[in-house]
Amino acid sequence: RRWIADRWDEATASLSGEQAAHLIRVLRAQTGMEFDIVAGDRVWRGVIAGISGDEVRFNLIAEVEADPALPVTLLLSIFKFDRMEWALEKATELGVERIVPIVARRSEKHLAASAQNRVERWRRIARESAQQSRRSDVPMIEDPTLLKTAARRESEGLRLLLAEQERSTTLRQALSTAMKEAGDEMPRIRMAVGPEGGWAAEEEALFDEEGWKAVSLGPRILRAETAAITAMAVVAAMLE
Ligand code: SAM
Repeated sequence: RRWIADRWDEATASLSGEQAAHLIRVLRAQTGMEFDIVAGDRVWRGVIAGISGDEVRFNLIAEVEADPALPVTLLLSIFKFDRMEWALEKATELGVERIVPIVARRSEKHLAASAQNRVERWRRIARESAQQSRRSDVPMIEDPTLLKTAARRESEGLRLLLAEQERSTTLRQALSTAMKEAGDEMPRIRMAVGPEGGWAAEEEALFDEEGWKAVSLGPRILRAETAAITAMAVVAAMLE
């Protein structure tokens, strides 16, 4: 597990709050014990130099090689919160860089209305999942955004709309073509997953107008969270 520093400079770092409490009470941290500490975008081996109250202070002794996130933004339609949380956690394990929760036409109204109240919880899930999977960074979870705004704003890189249509190419084919065209420099990838009721026709048309390409994950209809995780796994398999 990696611990995310609250404060740091070139030679020291400190943790407070829940992380420090866990280190002190559960792991019985003591001076001299070593842990991996994430300080900004770098990871260090840190040795505990002191514990006071609810703060643990480290001396940073050696830099640990960082593992960069996959260059993927996931536009995740709002669907049942327990399933969405599962998708957020697993996408984080698989290396997602950024998640934009989107309010789609078929996102359930009461969920869409209370999504903003969930954001802090989603950020905490991403943070804990990043620590658990020893990521050196935490994916950014944006505020919930209307689909129309997101389809227009997220306008760069390879934009892929996950859609279970027979006419679409597969995600693997689309990535493979993009990789050939791009040489070694893979563009940033944006992938959008629809809600349980799927995309409305006008939403597919809007994505199309904005230059998104429809891609499929195969012949079976997957639940939204399965589609999100499968898409991340396909990207990870091809890029890593
Ligand atoms: N419209 C579908 C229906 O009721 O027949 C269900 C939508 S599915 C449960 C939720 C989302 O997962 C879809 O909008 C799509 O983004 C994604 N998805 C599911 N299966 C997929 C597949 N085989 N290929 C690509 N995307 C898929």
